[in-house]
Amino acid sequence: MTAQLIDGNALARQIRADVAGRTAALKARGIQPALSIILVGDDPASQVYTRHKVNDSTETGLQATLERYPATLAESELLARIDALNRDRAVHGILVQLPLPRHMDSSKVIEAIAPEKDVDGFHVASAGALMVGRPGFWPCTPYGCIKMLDAIGYDLKGKHAVVIGRSNIVGKPMAMMLLGKNATVTICHSATRDLKAMTLQADVVVAAVGKRNVLTADMVKPGAVVIDVGMNRNDEGKLCGDVDFEGVKQVAGWITPVPGGVGPMTRAMLLVNTLEAAERAAQSRP
Ligand code: NAP
Repeated sequence: MTAQLIDGNALARQIRADVAGRTAALKARGIQPALSIILVGDDPASQVYTRHKVNDSTETGLQATLERYPATLAESELLARIDALNRDRAVHGILVQLPLPRHMDSSKVIEAIAPEKDVDGFHVASAGALMVGRPGFWPCTPYGCIKMLDAIGYDLKGKHAVVIGRSNIVGKPMAMMLLGKNATVTICHSATRDLKAMTLQADVVVAAVGKRNVLTADMVKPGAVVIDVGMNRNDEGKLCGDVDFEGVKQVAGWITPVPGGVGPMTRAMLLVNTLEAAERAAQSRP
């Protein structure tokens, strides 16, 4: 069997077109959806990510403002700036790019963001809302994975989903979203005794580890859906995922590539969350 590819680039394009249409509709009502991005320090990867976020937003008609601060910024100054953005009615989404400099407490900073503007979905209130099935913002990466499953028309009800990884931003919210779709969910992590025994039972595997070849062909049930969140570099320095793509695609029914899979979907879902924040604000303030 050769797996069908789930094309994250193509799906993200569709999502961006939908966001652009809904943004135009809001603008016609005099509302400009706006995202404020805060970057502290000069981490090279963060500079690239924030630049993408601004460009993606601008291309879909959202307004994105990047505020850059030196790594020496005091935590109290950052908290004061977030407080001002929370109170600014023209700002719908606030994103603080992680990682922050060591002298800052990331949890404290993220939790200073008003939950209704937490478009990254990292606030503890957002995590709680997802846990109990209330409206809130879902973290962009697992949200993008769910959209990929929706796009192939995959019905998760009663299926066994195995999530490899339990981080607060990918693995745990992923598991909650799959559970919300009525899958039976197993969460694996570094202390899992027999990962292969778990993944061989899975109808859906989501790999979110950050290590190459965590999932190989012998670990996958024929026909399973395999979603690769990982971002690693191979020996030639090329971007690759956690999944042995060439081997696993011979066994799986569906598979996401790296690059061109979850990455573009993560970027697209930030736009969706930002637009959603603006639409909700517009509803609550006629
Ligand atoms: P993380 O915080 O480092 O979490 C990694 C998880 O993998 C941990 O829960 C860890 O278990 C588990 N793990 C480590 N070794 C394992 C093993 N041998 N077997 C089973 N589980 C193992 O990473 P993250 O932030 O969730 O990100 C995961 C990967 O996704 C990274 O490559 C990251 O770059 C990528 N990522 C991609 C996107 C995207 O847009 N494509 C977005 C976010 C993240 P313990 O909890 O026991 O330590």
